[in-house]
Amino acid sequence: MDARLRRLGSRLLVLRARDDVSDAVCAALKDWNIGKLCFESDTEPYALARDKRVTDFAAASGIEVFSPVSHTLFDPAEIIEKNGGRPPLTYQSFVATAGEPPKPVMEKYSELPPIGDTGGYELLPVPKLEELGYGDLSQEYIPPFRGGETEALKRMRESLQDKEWVAKFEKPKGDPSAFLKPATTVLSPYLKFGCLSARYFYHCIQDVYRSTKTHTKPPVSLAGQLLWRDFFYTVSFGTPNFHQMEGNKICKQIPWRENGELFVAWRDGRTGYPWIDAIMIQLRKWGWMHHLARHSVACFLTRGDLYIHWEQGRDVFERLLIDSDWAINNGNWLWLSCSSFFYQYHRIYSPISFGKKYDPNGDYIRHFIPVLKETCPRSTSTSLGLHP
Ligand SMILES: Cc1cc2nc3c(=O)[nH]c(=O)nc-3n(C[C@H](O)[C@H](O)[C@H](O)COP(=O)(O)OP(=O)(O)OC[C@H]3O[C@@H](n4cnc5c(N)ncnc54)[C@H](O)[C@@H]3O)c2cc1C
Repeated sequence: MDARLRRLGSRLLVLRARDDVSDAVCAALKDWNIGKLCFESDTEPYALARDKRVTDFAAASGIEVFSPVSHTLFDPAEIIEKNGGRPPLTYQSFVATAGEPPKPVMEKYSELPPIGDTGGYELLPVPKLEELGYGDLSQEYIPPFRGGETEALKRMRESLQDKEWVAKFEKPKGDPSAFLKPATTVLSPYLKFGCLSARYFYHCIQDVYRSTKTHTKPPVSLAGQLLWRDFFYTVSFGTPNFHQMEGNKICKQIPWRENGELFVAWRDGRTGYPWIDAIMIQLRKWGWMHHLARHSVACFLTRGDLYIHWEQGRDVFERLLIDSDWAINNGNWLWLSCSSFFYQYHRIYSPISFGKKYDPNGDYIRHFIPVLKETCPRSTSTSLGLHP
């Protein structure tokens, strides 16, 4: 990002906050004599509190603020207003209320204003990973996905190049065990960090649809996936305490069990169910798993098998996913645990037969649980799906 900004005559500045991030921003606004502050609006409670402190400071100091909604397809506040002051609680009612998303802003810049006077601040190069405390990461735990906008655009174009794949995309039909070439786009980390604009992605999918005779429709289509993202953003924005069971009006109050030992076995990929363990190890190594793999382990932890609180599973995902996203992660955990949105609690993913359906030879399991590669060579693959 710094290199790209430098080509346009600017650069990336990383402020180090001693305690509160907003204090560091307010101090820079004052010390650098800033006249206009631009930032992307963010609906997560932590960000709302942080941004309010900064905008209050800006208002009191006569600094102009520009904070557009650009992270999502729609403005969650507008949808809630259109829906009579409450967020739509079903996908269908969300889609009907939302309509068509606005077009992305396509302006290109050939130069940016240079960094002005930064007062007494010393401008250092962008800190390296080691300086940020990530120096001891083993190679094994570095996900096989590169970050950045260039990579995001390349990845998106590669996915959309196969027009037939885009037109026929049906989320529930993807193979969760495909790891050499994942069955979905793996654009979630890029969307999460703003390397890819959701509106631009949506718009490019529509271009593909226009060039094909027929295409699948929401909720299962590729464009439909982006609408799921906006659905959870909107509900989370309009629901107090969305991220917890207590005080959350749309969350069923369930007497979950406490069991530290089973929870740790799940978290560390040591349940003894190879399908579940392989997914949890993929999470630790890659920080990304297919949607149905996430379904399997979330169902297993909660209503399916262990009956452990979804908030505990949510915390593990939040820490380890490279696409970890407050609204989407909480929304999906509420869903999978049958705490909200979906209540067919008798529809369980078997930790044995569901994985076997996709991974009959155990290739996925062997890839992520190397010990099984050695102890269970391919000829014994039929035993892999069994609980020891
Ligand atoms: C328990 C659980 C926790 C999850 N936590 C997260 C999370 O923290 N961050 C996250 O981005 N996704 C999360 N998901 C949703 C989904 O699994 C991922 O978005 C998806 O697997 C990402 O892969 P992809 O980019 O290849 O998806 P694609 O199928 O290619 O879809 C394109 C984009 O649509 C959006 N999308 C797809 N599925 C969903 C969905 N179910 N809900 C909301 N948006 C969706 C994502 O932004 C995704 O990048 C979670 C799902 C479950 C079951």
